[in-house]
Amino acid sequence: MSNSSSPSFLKNKIILRVSSLSHLEYCCKRSKIESFYKLEPLPVINGKGIAIIIGNRLHFQYSFGYKDFDRVLVRHRLGGTKRIFEKTIKVDDIEATIRGKYDDLKIIRYKDKKYTSVIEVKTISKKYMWSREIKSAIKQLEMYMWLMKEELEKLGYPLWRRSYIEVYSQRNGMLIRRIPVIYNNDIEEWIKDAIRKFKGLLPMQVPPRAYCKLCPRNVRGLCSWWKAMEEDKRRKDI
Ligand code: SF4
Repeated sequence: MSNSSSPSFLKNKIILRVSSLSHLEYCCKRSKIESFYKLEPLPVINGKGIAIIIGNRLHFQYSFGYKDFDRVLVRHRLGGTKRIFEKTIKVDDIEATIRGKYDDLKIIRYKDKKYTSVIEVKTISKKYMWSREIKSAIKQLEMYMWLMKEELEKLGYPLWRRSYIEVYSQRNGMLIRRIPVIYNNDIEEWIKDAIRKFKGLLPMQVPPRAYCKLCPRNVRGLCSWWKAMEEDKRRKDI
């Protein structure tokens, strides 16, 4: 772990990014590694890694899909496109600040009132997202809704009953799927349990090996489970 510093989960004050935290639904270890270790940037080798660059570019592009006066107004009043939302909660002896930046929002008009749907954009090179990837995206959006709820109410554009994950193809830019997500009243408890898992107070589970193969190489490089599996495989091959 040459590129890792002392993990900050040992401290009483921690900052957790929504995107990393949401990966708990994909794999506890991945979420912990992404939350507490400084990761090496992924190198571009024989075309690998280019998909990530394209994905990031398309993600940015599709994050500005809804041309609507109220949408622009709300985004502006929320503090612009670079605004990071955060909330701090107490988890046992830890003060945890959860931080995240939403992709987009859409204004819904219903019975003379205006509401806000938060939009989370995903771009994929596969034909569809795997179940744990979808669960992670849902958790990510649930956390953005939790972070933004009160401010949207103050602005007079409260959360609509549904927000959406939009999945786009990296190959042709087509919208593959729109997944509705409703507000999760238990999201704070989910976050607290996530931190307890990081601290070893609750069991952590790892996913099927197929997910490990999809896991970013810079995360796998820091994963003791992956290293053990590789070692095991090498021994069997001898
Ligand atoms: S290699 Fe597998 S167990 Fe390790 S962090 Fe990635 S998904 Fe989790």
